[in-house]
Amino acid sequence: MSIAANNPELTSWVPVPANSDFPIQNLPFGIFQTKNEKPRVGVRIGDQVLDLKTLYVLGYLENLSFELSDFDNEFLNAMMKKGKKGTRELRNRISKLLRSDVNDLQKNEHHVAQVLIPVDQVEMRMPVQIGDYTDFYSSKEHATNVGIMFRDPANALLPNWLWIPVGYHGRASSVILSGVPVHRPKGQIKPQDDQPPIYEASRQVDFELEMAFITYDGKPLGDSISTEEADDYIFGLCLFNDWSARDIQKWEYVPLGPFLAKNFASSISAWIVTLDALEPYKVSTPDQDPEVLSYLKFEGERSYDIHLEVAIEPEGSAETTISRSNFKYMYWNMAQQLAHHTVNGCNVRCGDLMGSGTISGPTEDSYGSMLELAWKGTKPLKMKDGSERKFILDNDSVIMRGYCEKNGVRIGFGEVSSKILPAKK
Ligand code: CA
Repeated sequence: MSIAANNPELTSWVPVPANSDFPIQNLPFGIFQTKNEKPRVGVRIGDQVLDLKTLYVLGYLENLSFELSDFDNEFLNAMMKKGKKGTRELRNRISKLLRSDVNDLQKNEHHVAQVLIPVDQVEMRMPVQIGDYTDFYSSKEHATNVGIMFRDPANALLPNWLWIPVGYHGRASSVILSGVPVHRPKGQIKPQDDQPPIYEASRQVDFELEMAFITYDGKPLGDSISTEEADDYIFGLCLFNDWSARDIQKWEYVPLGPFLAKNFASSISAWIVTLDALEPYKVSTPDQDPEVLSYLKFEGERSYDIHLEVAIEPEGSAETTISRSNFKYMYWNMAQQLAHHTVNGCNVRCGDLMGSGTISGPTEDSYGSMLELAWKGTKPLKMKDGSERKFILDNDSVIMRGYCEKNGVRIGFGEVSSKILPAKK
């Protein structure tokens, strides 16, 4: 597949700082707001936000399948309703308008001044109205580590894990935007195995390094999406910190899986990088053994080489990078996740969010959670300020970043960052 907007040779007349996550080859979508104006759809380039509502009003988005209300909107959902074909044409048009060698927009300085807004003058909003949120458990390294710690080192993976892209239904209401702080959750914990549980603030707040994909409208209830069709139903990806309270989780998760340990907050990054923009960074996935069942078979390279980092920033102190991982480590790919999710006829809808599951790499410094990095609290991590962490403390910020790099082009996701506040009284 050749997508014009992905050409590594392209440059833009909009200045793009070196090492920016947002060169012309990226063009992610988000919702932004400026003073005294309603939220609307924007595209990020360099340190500027391109205002699609104004771009539309000025006539630059003619002969596409969109109308004003798709951009003059507090969510991306209306725009995403136009499907892969519509949003691909839109991204290609925007790319053309921003190209150094195309004059249409850049020659009209009074238009440029209206459609480009410095990013430090905007406030980002939740990009998508999320209908349903599903979280998978697709990193073999993560599932193995958790199995070793909590069950049986000799049989760390449960028998179904190598056959099923294991997942569960999360909660959409508590998915929040990067920058929104989170109060330490309270609940039932059981610090002593031989004592009854107590009601208290969690002592083991953790992050989960994940990515999430956002869907277009799927098929009607009863129909399935094949691995071959999956990409046509995926709009794009964002960084995803699936906050977890390990002590609450440990006590509650049998028999139905995590509940209050997970649904107090999950943070997403503000810019949705399209699957189209990620196309040049495709890589193959790990070999799968045993051979998967027919509906989970797939062809070609179905994962993406996305470098991921996690840092902890204690209050008033420098951040310390504590993990470097990569999206490509995932055992189950997104096509398999979507095929499995719909194999029984379950319908996905425009704006559904699918978490990858914690992304842990093969080495101890590439694990995707504090639970694994500090190995259940037995190997505390040293911060730059000399303090130690077994889990996340009050007023710590957790920051995740991700980017792809190839052929001299780097595209990224920005960051998802949020702070843990003390528990509410
Ligand atoms: Ca998770």
